[in-house]
Amino acid sequence: MRMATIEQRLAEYLELTKKMKSYEEALGVLYWDMRTGAPRKGLETRAEVIGVLSTELFKLSTSDRMGELLAALTEPAAFESLSRLHRRSVTESKKDYDRSKKIPPEMYQKYVVLASQAESVWEEAKPNNDFATFRPYLEQVVDYQKQFIELWGYGENKYDTLLDAYEPGMTVTKLDAVFGALRETLVPLVAAIAAKPALDTAFMNRKVPTEQQRAFSEFILKEIGYDFAAGRLDPTTHPFATGLNPGDVRVTTRYIEDDVKNSLFSTIHEGGHALYEQNVSPALIGTNLCTGTSMGIHESQSRLWENMIGRSRPFWERYYGDFQRIVPAFADVPMEDFYRAVNEVKPSLIRTEADELTYNLHIMIRYELEKRLMNDELQVADLPEAWNAMYKEYLGIEPPNDELGVLQDVHWSGGGFGYFPSYSLGNMYAAQMMDAMRAALPTFDADVAAGRFDPIKAWLTEKIYTHGKLLTPSEVIRNVAGAELDPTYLTTYLEAKYKEIYAL
Ligand code: ZN
Repeated sequence: MRMATIEQRLAEYLELTKKMKSYEEALGVLYWDMRTGAPRKGLETRAEVIGVLSTELFKLSTSDRMGELLAALTEPAAFESLSRLHRRSVTESKKDYDRSKKIPPEMYQKYVVLASQAESVWEEAKPNNDFATFRPYLEQVVDYQKQFIELWGYGENKYDTLLDAYEPGMTVTKLDAVFGALRETLVPLVAAIAAKPALDTAFMNRKVPTEQQRAFSEFILKEIGYDFAAGRLDPTTHPFATGLNPGDVRVTTRYIEDDVKNSLFSTIHEGGHALYEQNVSPALIGTNLCTGTSMGIHESQSRLWENMIGRSRPFWERYYGDFQRIVPAFADVPMEDFYRAVNEVKPSLIRTEADELTYNLHIMIRYELEKRLMNDELQVADLPEAWNAMYKEYLGIEPPNDELGVLQDVHWSGGGFGYFPSYSLGNMYAAQMMDAMRAALPTFDADVAAGRFDPIKAWLTEKIYTHGKLLTPSEVIRNVAGAELDPTYLTTYLEAKYKEIYAL
């Protein structure tokens, strides 16, 4: 039998990748459906269907044939002959393949079952303020993570290998440096604001009917350039965006009658994620590169739109009139009061409710704890105490119980160690990108104040969105800013904004 040519192998590889992408898209629709109102009675069967499809997908991604194709295509001579797109696709697949293959299938199977049990136990333990029941599950999850680290291998720090899964190339050394710089600015800034008289924000709890919140959400998504012909907006409990392909990117939000801020900024946040996914180049459809390049870069887009544009004064100068028209309950609230209220800084216990400034401190606490856990410097049993001590140190407040403390996030129960830093990385990337965008678009503020988002979207598309996963995270930031990640852009931005708001 004659050996297959590189072209034939590439064609087979692309076909296999496309098949995997199809499974992923089908799973994406099923998850979306589950979280936007699928009938409760069908959920148990649905979970099984998802299990079956996920297993098939995992089998395809780790199949012997995939291994053979990747081995052949990554041989130097073959690799060099590939196009840039195919080289990058093969490199990504090889990385995923190697990582998956290092875990014995039986071990992975047991871990998946444990993680789903741990999540259910956590769901019960949280409202009951019951860390003791959750503890043995978390101990096992952490134990598995440590075993995975050994199997995957690691460089300088054990935690690096977990970071790399969400933010390729990120390390403890890099993060310690950027978080250290961020903390030095944020802790005194938050303390200075806490010493000032609190803002009057009581009007933010006025009742706003869901229908009005939905109308404004839809309006504002259209304004920022979200394409409803390639997406839709639905209510959910924990808002998310899901990119099935660039022609189908769905946004969800949450309507709380006496907290209009919630839907307002959830919508713009998820809208930012969606703008990224809707504008990935059609040339990447069907490949493993047809999505955002990393969690951190993705989060940079949600936060750039939510905070840096959506919570800016020029934005509300343009849209506050529309808001008052759609939401009459705010007819007598001056724009300036509203602007300050949506930018209120207040050290709080719950991460998801934190403001733009203190949010980063919530993340740094989790990062420090994860790092210690993975390096055997902290035991799960001592986690609640360590958590509370860090909140006192970083934010000056202490949780009265574990529900408002160590039990608040879902991430750890599902084994999502290494994920949290993405949120703050997103803020840092976003500030650096904003600086570059302002330099490239001198009329930026005037554009926002006039609701002209086309030049902004076009610039972001050219620099970031269109490339999908064709560029790595560090290539994206270099492509945008001509430099590596630098936290001083975020500290400069936050200092300027909040010193003005709080007259410091
Ligand atoms: Zn997000």
